[in-house]
Amino acid sequence: MTRGFYVGRFQPYHKGHHNVIDEISDSLNELVIGIGSADKSHTRRNPFTAGERYVMISRAVEELDITTHIVPIEDIDRNAIWVSHVQSLCPPFDIAISNNPLVIQLFQDTDIEVREGPIFDRSRYQGTRIRELMIQQEKWEHLVPDPTVEAIHEVGGVTRLRQVVESDDFNGQRE
Ligand code: NAP
Repeated sequence: MTRGFYVGRFQPYHKGHHNVIDEISDSLNELVIGIGSADKSHTRRNPFTAGERYVMISRAVEELDITTHIVPIEDIDRNAIWVSHVQSLCPPFDIAISNNPLVIQLFQDTDIEVREGPIFDRSRYQGTRIRELMIQQEKWEHLVPDPTVEAIHEVGGVTRLRQVVESDDFNGQRE
């Protein structure tokens, strides 16, 4: 029985993440999906709440052939104890999968095995690019799983992101 751990901010959850999870699932029995920066929302970089991201992910992974546990994880000030923080919130896991150099380093400093994950068509699937398409009122829906599109529309996510950006621009102009 091997349980893996995969963390991301998922702002939003897109087909790149979905394909990575599908691929790494082949070598795992169960997967813990950590929703990183769970305390962040309503900003240009992090428009969606942890609960909204939970819905986006949980609906999308239903079609995958693996048992998943989705855990929101707030950021903390001290990197040195972040892995312990993650472990205190998640079901026990045997291996972490990440492409983030800081995350890899923090796990390497512990006795938990960490592996680099696959990268799936990075030029197409990037959270930053998808958020920019939303802001520019261009098509983004084909880049995320259908259940995620639905979850974003349910909370008026695109309108919120544009309002956040307008508000940032307004505050920037006043300073
Ligand atoms: P992230 O900030 O979500 O992503 C960093 C970059 O890596 C993004 O451009 C992301 O793309 C990209 N990426 C994600 N998965 C990828 C993949 N499979 N292949 C290629 N690129 C990929 O960071 P993360 O590593 O995904 O998530 C780490 C989470 O842990 C963050 O929420 C971070 O704040 C948290 N953390 C917290 C602490 C602390 O609190 N002290 C310490 C370490 C980490 P997309 O935008 O397309 O996803």
